[in-house]
Order: sequence, then structure tokens, then C-alpha cells
Amino acid sequence: MKRKITRFILYIFIALTVISNVFLFANFKFNNTFTLKNNMLILGITVLLFIYYIRLNKNPQYAHAIVNTEKKDKDQNSNEFFTKPKTTFKDVAGLEGVKDELIEVIDFINNPEKYKKMGARIPKGILFYGPPGTGKTLLASAVAGETKSTFFSVSGSEFVEKYVGVGAKRVRDLFEKARKEAPSVIFIDEVDAIGAKRHLDSNNEKDQTLNQLLVELDGFNANQTVVVIAATNRLDLLDEALLRPGRFDRHMYISNPNVKDREKILKVHTKNKPLDPGINITDLARKTHGMSGAHLSNIANEAAIIAVRENKRMITVSHFEQAIERIVAGLEIKNPTILYKEKEVVSYHEAGHALIGKILNTDMVQKVSIVPRGHALGYVIHMPQDDRYILTKEELCNKIMVMLGGRAAEELVFKHLSTGAKDDLKKVTEIAMQMVCDYGMSNLGFIHNEPNMIHSLSDSINQEINKIIDECYKITYDYLSEYRDELEKISIALLEKEALNKTELDELLDDFLSAPGLRNKEKELEASLT
Ligand code: ATP
Repeated sequence: MKRKITRFILYIFIALTVISNVFLFANFKFNNTFTLKNNMLILGITVLLFIYYIRLNKNPQYAHAIVNTEKKDKDQNSNEFFTKPKTTFKDVAGLEGVKDELIEVIDFINNPEKYKKMGARIPKGILFYGPPGTGKTLLASAVAGETKSTFFSVSGSEFVEKYVGVGAKRVRDLFEKARKEAPSVIFIDEVDAIGAKRHLDSNNEKDQTLNQLLVELDGFNANQTVVVIAATNRLDLLDEALLRPGRFDRHMYISNPNVKDREKILKVHTKNKPLDPGINITDLARKTHGMSGAHLSNIANEAAIIAVRENKRMITVSHFEQAIERIVAGLEIKNPTILYKEKEVVSYHEAGHALIGKILNTDMVQKVSIVPRGHALGYVIHMPQDDRYILTKEELCNKIMVMLGGRAAEELVFKHLSTGAKDDLKKVTEIAMQMVCDYGMSNLGFIHNEPNMIHSLSDSINQEINKIIDECYKITYDYLSEYRDELEKISIALLEKEALNKTELDELLDDFLSAPGLRNKEKELEASLT
């Protein structure tokens, strides 16, 4: 604002300077308004204004704060800040348990008298936590839609400010507005940005913002139908004061969908799309293991875009497969410039992963490819057939061996270690570390290590991690040496066709997969790991 006013006055004085000079030098003597003295005065004021204006601009933090506050005030006064969503529970597929819990809240907003008579007060704070893209925002907006409430949607990071008191003021304004517009639902996404645990050395501005949020949560009376829903991906980061009864005391875990919920979500997102009758949504749900609702909605949209690109009138299975591949492995790199030698290395690397996956019969190999996508020169898509919640030590070791298959194949064939195994090694180390520190699956015993213990035990932890990885690597290498013919077969086929799907891979390894020796190998492996 200050800058705008200064700029406006500056423009007037620049204009005056120009006019006075024109009059002075054109020798207009008929009026003596523009004498040399007046002229110098106008010029002097203009220069001073100019310097002041430059200084205002040179102070970006100050300017930024002004701009931000202006924007916020404008937002808060405009209707963009809150909405009346049309979303209902019909738009939220699956999540039945969570929806059941929320129905009570909805009933409270719709029939407050019923509860008031009983002396019950509305559950004020609900906390959704869980992985990203699982429908937390969608659910909150559905609560508002079902109750025809005003929906205030903000992100915790919008309250994080440099200047003490600004964030707290925003919280105050938000709640004041929500009370005025009641019944209303306030949704605070990424609440950890303002609600993280406080420390002695913590930031004063953040503390004030959090304190204000606590005050507002405590300040509701029984007649106010305002529900506050917060969401976070990191429940462990939140301050105890936020989680205590009377504040965000209803915690609801929103997980990635299981196969049945994936099917329901895919149905919601393909409802208005022309699908080929050959498409089996149950099958697609199986192929999207581990994906969130956001991934699934993205896949449905990508498949439709691919169908349009190919000038088709319907979306086919192939469009969905391409969309899944794009989401899992990234965007295909067109016309890559890769040396033949490197392509050969990649083909053995990917063949190593695929063959070990087949030998150990783990996580169904859906596709193996050496077409570069994203930052990878090749990839294997695994899709476990079932949703699994518990894994045994053997199953975790199997996962490690599949990931080490690429490096082992390269070492076996080319006698080198290359940079291509970087991502595999990162994942392998993560699993092995969890086995040692979280699951008690090492010689350190049945213990769960807290972060401070990990630091003090770092040498012995590293030793155990190395031991697990070394043992797994040795078994992987031996397998590939023993089944080198099969490794060569996959690699040659990859160099020829660039990609093999599950059926093609099974056909290629037909004799090998049905050989009885392989089943005996599984038993040997179990024995060596226990
Ligand atoms: P984040 O934690 O990253 O903020 P979120 O959990 O709030 O994510 P949403 O923004 O609610 O996730 O979901 C993103 C999109 O994913 C939704 O707009 C919707 O299209 C789709 N989606 C997610 N879950 C579901 C579901 N259960 N039913 C239908 N669509 C869903």
C-alpha cells in the first residue's frame, strides 16, 4: 500500500518537474508560477521521493510482507476463501469405517438440538492422518457437502510467517469468519506446519500461531456448529497439546486403499468415461497395488488422454496399462541417445531383477523393459497379487535379493560394478536397516531401536545391515551363475524387443519355471536364511 501511494505521488512530481522545465525553458513569461526557485523545489522533492521509493523496493522482506498481508486480507474478504462444496460421501469411494465415524459428526451438525438436549457437545477437532493422496481433503469437503456447511480450506503453511503475531492473527480471523458463517467446517491441511512439537529453542512466531489455534479450539461454546478437521502425513510430529481430549481428540487413519477400495475408486473415476466392454476393473485394481486414490484418479485421467491421443472412441485395457506404466515408471524418453554397450548392460541388469523375481516367485513380475523412463534406463514392474500387511524375514530377504539381482547380473557378466544400482542399493539398505532396527531380525536381538539408540549403536547396526545384504547378495549371485542360460535368454530378448510383458516372459522361461529343481532351491534358500 505504502509503495502504491509513494509511486502515485512520485508520478505527480515527475509530471510537475517536466511541465515546470518545459515552461521555464520555453520562456513563458506571461505568468511567473514556474520561476527557477519553484522549479528547483519541485525537482528536489521529486529526487527525494525517488530515493524513498527505491529504498522501499530495495527492502524485499518488507515489501514481501506487505504484499502478502494485502493478498491475505483480500482473500479473507472475498468468497474465494470459503466455499459451499457439492461433494458428498458418494464421491468418496471405500473408507467405509471412516465414513461411519463421520456420520455422527454430520448428524450433529444437521440436528444440533437432538444432542443439545442430551447435554452433548459437538466433537470439535478431528484429525486425519496417513499417506498423501488418500482422500483426506476429499472427505473433509464431503463432510461440508453432506451438511451444507461453509467449507474453509487452508494449509498450515499459510500461517507460517516471519513476523511475530501475523500467523496468530490469521488463525483468529479464520475462526471468527467460520463462526459467522456457521454451520461451517474448517479444514487445515498439513497441520504439522503449525502444530509441530514445541521445543525450548523453538520459533516464537510458530508458538504464537499454535497457541492461538489451541485458544480457538478451546473457545467454542455448545451452540456453535463449527467443526475443525486437520490433516497430516506425520502424526508423530504433532505437539501433545493439540492431541489432548477436547482438541484434536478423534484420530482417523486414512490408509492407502486395499484391492476392493481400489476397485471402488476406479469405478468412481471412470463413471463418466467411455470404457471398452473388455475392461475388467477388478483386474485393474489388482494391477495397481500400493497406489493411493490420487494415483488411481490420475491413471483414469491419463488413460482417457492416451485414448484421445490415439483417436479412439473408447478407453481400452492397453490405454490403462500405458497409464499405469507412466505413473509407476515415469515419462518415456523419446529418441534416447544410449550407447549399445550401455544398453547391453541395462538389459542384463533388468534381466537379473526379473529372473530372481521369477526364481523366488515374489511379487509377480508384470513387465521388464529397457525403454528409458523418468531417470531410469530400464525397469521391472512388480505387482503383488494380494495386499499384505505382515511380511516374514524370508519375504523381506527375497525383496532384497530381487533388488540385488541387477548388480549381481552385471558383476557376473561384465565383471564390473556400475552406477546403475544406486536406487536398488538405497532401497536394499532401507529394508535391511528396518530388519535390524525395527523388526528385531538380526543378531542384535528382538529389539526396536529408537533414533537416539541408533546413533550410539551405529557400528554394530552397520555390521548387521552389511551381514544381511552380503548374505543375500551371495545367494543372488549363485542363482544367476547357476541359471546363466536363462539370464542370457531374457537379456537377448530385451535387446531385440526392448520390453517383455508377463506372458512373454513366462513363455520364454517355460521349461525352466516348471523344472522340479527350482522348487528344491526354494527349500534350500529357506534353510540358509533361518
Ligand atoms: P495430501 O495428504 O497430499 O493432502 P489427501 O489425502 O488430502 O492428500 P486428496 O487431496 O483428498 O488427498 O485426494 C486427491 C485426489 O485423489 C482426490 O481429489 C480424488 O480425486 C482422489 N481420491 C483420493 N481418495 C479417493 C477416494 N477414496 N475416492 C475417490 N477419489 C479419491
